[in-house]
Amino acid sequence: MSSRVLIIGAGGVGGVVAHKCAQVKDTFGEIMLASRTLSKCERIAGEVAELQGRTIRTAALDADDPKNTIRLIEDFEPELVINVALPYQDLAIMDACLATGVHYLDTANYEPPDEAKFEYKWQWAYRERFEQAGLTAILGCGFDPGQTNIYCAWAQKHHFDTIRSVDIMDCNAGSHGKAFATNFNPEINIREITQRGRYWEKGEWKETDPLSVHTPFHFAECGEKEMYLMYHEELESLVQNLRGLERIRFWMTFGKAYLTHLEVLQNVGMTSITPIDFEGQQIVPLQFLKAVLPKPESLGENYTGKTNIGCWIEGEKDGVFKRYYIYNVCDHAACYREVRSQAISYTTGVPAMLGAKLLLDGVWKKPGVHNVETLDPDPFMQQIGKHGLPWVETYPTEPLPV
Ligand code: NDP
Repeated sequence: MSSRVLIIGAGGVGGVVAHKCAQVKDTFGEIMLASRTLSKCERIAGEVAELQGRTIRTAALDADDPKNTIRLIEDFEPELVINVALPYQDLAIMDACLATGVHYLDTANYEPPDEAKFEYKWQWAYRERFEQAGLTAILGCGFDPGQTNIYCAWAQKHHFDTIRSVDIMDCNAGSHGKAFATNFNPEINIREITQRGRYWEKGEWKETDPLSVHTPFHFAECGEKEMYLMYHEELESLVQNLRGLERIRFWMTFGKAYLTHLEVLQNVGMTSITPIDFEGQQIVPLQFLKAVLPKPESLGENYTGKTNIGCWIEGEKDGVFKRYYIYNVCDHAACYREVRSQAISYTTGVPAMLGAKLLLDGVWKKPGVHNVETLDPDPFMQQIGKHGLPWVETYPTEPLPV
């Protein structure tokens, strides 16, 4: 049975979600893309018509105020909202879904705009209300968080009795030809990278100076890259949901030029989120920086190279130590040919579409608020390859170099 879906946010990820939903006509019968800037929705709708041969509706929406989203939902009557705007809008959109009786899915957890801090507590506080309303909210259904959490659930279900350690490793070996750009929303990306590193070991969180712990690692189809230990939101939920876990860390690769630019921007105060007075106006330096940096959705055209994102997992099966590494490799140029996007937005948007499909098909429909690793990984793993993100499983003989 086909359903109506409302996608909020017409950035890099929103574009991919629109294209991928359009490819699955049986589930997504009618699609509306709404965002703050209508022209962005219209540009994407044009590309969807050209590449996927489908017409989607568009609307201007400021989702910071739930009243606006409620009005749009009442008009369009979707069964589900896919929120791929910014983390700042999560709670307002969840409120609108509760008010109108609509399911919810997102790819990033809530962040208050005036504090560089992301945590699930604000969204987990909605559990009872979604449960009582008989509505499903699926949190963090991109790649990381998202597909990486599902890899962990899959490993827990099929490969391990006990998982002792998880290392999530996110490598982008692509090149977009710009001196400095971020692959997803610059403001959110820079807030994430410049915060202190954090990992969980033996029941407690341990902190490191930002990007101070790093090691080279050879990524399949990407080569050897330096990866840096960072805090990332999926650690918070996986610590709660994996049996016997003793350590979990997150690593991301960065090139030298990227880090040098970032250091300079930080040193001159451009990454600050504290408002300053500029010629009689209050401006937030990081928001101004975002305005002058290339838009993530503009990077796709000349992007070459690949991404490799996966989970390195160690533990026991049938009383024997086991090492397991599962990952996906994604090609920037191939993504552009298919949906006019680079691989970072693509790897986020495809799991979001599939999570939405599983919810609407009834497979992942479960009243409450759920992180994806608590849902059955099998249907997702069976279908994700054919939608563009196949996975590779290996059994490494050597330990990680760190
Ligand atoms: P972009 O900045 O490219 O797009 C965000 C879009 O949201 C823009 O079109 C923006 O509109 C719109 N928007 C912002 N505020 C509002 C508002 N108040 N009301 C309506 N629309 C609004 O970001 P990305 O597409 O790169 O990222 C989208 C989301 O995906 C983010 O939350 C990000 O954190 C998440 N993400 C998750 C990943 C994962 O693997 N889990 C990986 C990458 C991203 P305008 O253009 O007018 O500003």
